Amino acid sequence: MDAKTVKPATLAAQALGWVDEPTRAIAPPIHTSTTFIRDPDNQFRSGRSYARDQNPSFDQAEAVLTALERGHSSLLFASGMAAATAVFQALAPGDHVVVPRVMYWSLRNWLLTFATHWGLLVEPIDMSDPDAIRQAIQPGRTRLVWIETPANPLWTITDIALACEIAHAAGAAAVVDSTVATPVLTRPLDLGADIVMHAATKYLNGHSDVVAGALTAREESAMWLRIKSIRAQIGGILGPFEAWLLTRGMRTLFPRVRTACASAQSIALHFAQHPAIEEVLYPGLPSFRGHAVAAKQMQGGFGGMLSIRVRGSRSSSITGCEAAIATAAHVAIWKRATSLGGVESLVEHRASIEGAGTPAPDDLLRLSVGIEDTGDLIADLEQALAQAERKGAGRG
Ligand code: PLP
Repeated sequence: MDAKTVKPATLAAQALGWVDEPTRAIAPPIHTSTTFIRDPDNQFRSGRSYARDQNPSFDQAEAVLTALERGHSSLLFASGMAAATAVFQALAPGDHVVVPRVMYWSLRNWLLTFATHWGLLVEPIDMSDPDAIRQAIQPGRTRLVWIETPANPLWTITDIALACEIAHAAGAAAVVDSTVATPVLTRPLDLGADIVMHAATKYLNGHSDVVAGALTAREESAMWLRIKSIRAQIGGILGPFEAWLLTRGMRTLFPRVRTACASAQSIALHFAQHPAIEEVLYPGLPSFRGHAVAAKQMQGGFGGMLSIRVRGSRSSSITGCEAAIATAAHVAIWKRATSLGGVESLVEHRASIEGAGTPAPDDLLRLSVGIEDTGDLIADLEQALAQAERKGAGRG
């Protein structure tokens, strides 16, 4: 299938149209072999010797992702964290990195503890403010600007093209965690990023049954070669069955993401003026701070992730935090669980999981919108909010 002539949705649906030549099967085989025969003359003409770095089960998923992101090549990892940390491990102690203050919390914790201890100079900033990026960058010393947009859990938007321009002018690489946007909505490499990262656990797989990560590079830079060798040597790789599931998941990426986006937009609009809601955080709302930038760099929707801040009540002395937790306690269709990007909708009191240092207000519920009927999702949240309010009134 020619990636230049057909649309990305077609490439994804047919996983590039690959057929298993020996059997003519449409679904690819799962290769479990850890090792490969050496030719009698001591060569490896198959191109493979050992499965830690040359696993044929990765080929199709990596090729699909490379085509969707319009990159040079991709690498699968055992998790999103394994993919993200491989990027930072490709740097050297003493290197300065600029990272967002609002970002996936586990990576932030790793950067501020392990990576800092290892010698990286980690500078968290407001990545939505281009002036803050300019001020933070130290030409010659800053090696990497890490971008996440929309960023967990406030959905803060960074102007990818502008941030990449600033990074490159100072000789730094720019890497984008595009887990929430997915290649359906945003192509960071087209906007100037050097590498795009995905927690493939989320939308790419889409069924909450695989933990996986991926990186796609714009070109085969020295940094990319270091990352490749880190994966091969440290061995944070995916199992063959997980890689197979990921390829299968990506086949439905476009309809899943489009459905989630449309539903999230309706849910955000429905609750934006709701008496029980303090604020809806969603890039698709015209009143949202990063809306104009999001509209510029996200095509076809603003993602399936939003957060709501639940209002407390003075008359019943219930705080926003208590009201949020009580709302989550009463959902029947939404699932009370962490993670995102699956076909089922999830709700989570984010401050509880992130703990100290979280940018999430304690009245915030993070919503991952799945592909269920939008009316059902709205009705379920409505009844949960009403029950939380009754609980507060009972106490008052
Ligand atoms: N990046 C983002 C935006 C995430 O939401 C997550 C996980 O929630 C990760 C990275 C890490 O991915 P994983 O859980 O697969 O390690």
